[in-house]
Amino acid sequence: MKAPRIQEALFRIKGKFGSFSLPDEGEKEALLNFLLSLPGVGPKTTRCVLLFSYGFPFFPVDTHIFRVGKRLGFIGKKESPEKAMEKLDRLVPEGLHLQLHLLLIKHGRTICRPKPLCETCFLQDLCSFFKDTSI
Ligand code: SF4
Repeated sequence: MKAPRIQEALFRIKGKFGSFSLPDEGEKEALLNFLLSLPGVGPKTTRCVLLFSYGFPFFPVDTHIFRVGKRLGFIGKKESPEKAMEKLDRLVPEGLHLQLHLLLIKHGRTICRPKPLCETCFLQDLCSFFKDTSI
């Protein structure tokens, strides 16, 4: 299923930019919209490309960040991952998108796992989930 999507994406990139590669530089919103228009490319993948390859201030939200964000309260209980990404693109301070993204994933993999290790967590004082479950 992915092979035809990859082929179509490559041909559309070549049609727009004249080669099978994305440009080295670009206008970040235009690139975001172009990548989102490609078949099978979602908002998380798009933001990963723009953040990791271009250094643009976008904030991909994966399953770990989504879980940690809901527990800490910076992602709303009913907020979708897409809405959370659009919000965090803007809210994360300039220059911190990549570092915060990586640190939150690490926290979600090691401490704030699906079954969280709250007793070892330094974020207890800031955490809605911890306050709600430790009453
Ligand atoms: S206190 Fe528990 S739920 Fe809150 S961030 Fe830490 S590990 Fe996650």
